[in-house]
Amino acid sequence: MTNRKIAVLGLGLMGGGMARQLLAAGFDVTVWNRSTDKATALGQAGARIAATPADAATGADVVVAMLADDDVSRNVWTGENGALAAMAPGAIAIESSTLTGDWVFDLARQAAAQGVGFLEAPVTGSRDQAAQGTLRFLVGGEADSIATARPAFDAMGSALVHLGPVGSAATVKLANNFLCGVQAASLAEAIALFEKHGLDVEQAVSILFDGAPASPMVKGVGRRMLDRDYAPHFLVPLMAKDLGYAAQALSDVGIRPSIAQAARQRFLDADGAGEGQRDIAAIVEPLRKV
Ligand code: NAP
Repeated sequence: MTNRKIAVLGLGLMGGGMARQLLAAGFDVTVWNRSTDKATALGQAGARIAATPADAATGADVVVAMLADDDVSRNVWTGENGALAAMAPGAIAIESSTLTGDWVFDLARQAAAQGVGFLEAPVTGSRDQAAQGTLRFLVGGEADSIATARPAFDAMGSALVHLGPVGSAATVKLANNFLCGVQAASLAEAIALFEKHGLDVEQAVSILFDGAPASPMVKGVGRRMLDRDYAPHFLVPLMAKDLGYAAQALSDVGIRPSIAQAARQRFLDADGAGEGQRDIAAIVEPLRKV
């Protein structure tokens, strides 16, 4: 197998599943995570545990990051003991977190300056698809680097779409989550409305689930809102982050981001109300209490 040595930086809901899929596919996996408990669990599954991002990246053919946001990504790749400076020329850096186009473009430039290949590869799919190796990678970067890293993508996902140069995938991913966030926010308002009117909520929501508004997001998150099942698939503050990045992307091209900002406020309200460690379905809770 080519590119056998892989480092995974970030073992949250998504990165943990991705690292396990790489192990299952026979890669030589080294992991790093800020909190050591998650790294210990991967160590028990066969991964080598690194003390720093630089330690993880040393000698790796491919380094994959799955981290919270731009600030964390910047620090893990280019901060003290960052991964990038430890990578050898010819190795491939894959940034799979949902980030701004500005930051991934800057990171790509820094990678190129030291002869490291760079791909942005945000994903669609959530916790369960990461655990099952069925993510869809949205990729920006050079076709050569994609070909080199293809075995790793194949282990972690079931589809890969090459969208263009670095920055293209960030734009599409942020639009994807913009629409998801707006749907979840409007659905939370609709469910709270049904409840306040004393309707049979299951029956009322079935009209949405069976009608034109039905989407995987509406049906999946809607079911969890009705069941009050807030075990995390995707955490509330991360959707607030994505809607903020989407709003910035819209502003950058002169579009007033009214809808992204309004939806974002629902997630910020839920975070402020103590729902920050729960699934995005929990944004309905503050509305139930008004
Ligand atoms: P998560 O479970 O919250 O994991 C976040 C990761 O970032 C963890 O490894 C966490 O480390 C690390 N991190 C956070 N703050 C840090 C800091 N200050 N320094 C170092 N590491 C830090 O989130 P996730 O759901 O896996 O999401 C990861 C990325 O994938 C995000 O960009 C998210 O938007 C994106 N994404 C998520 C989904 C989804 O459905 N969950 C789907 C597509 C894309 P600790 O373990 O120490 O906290």
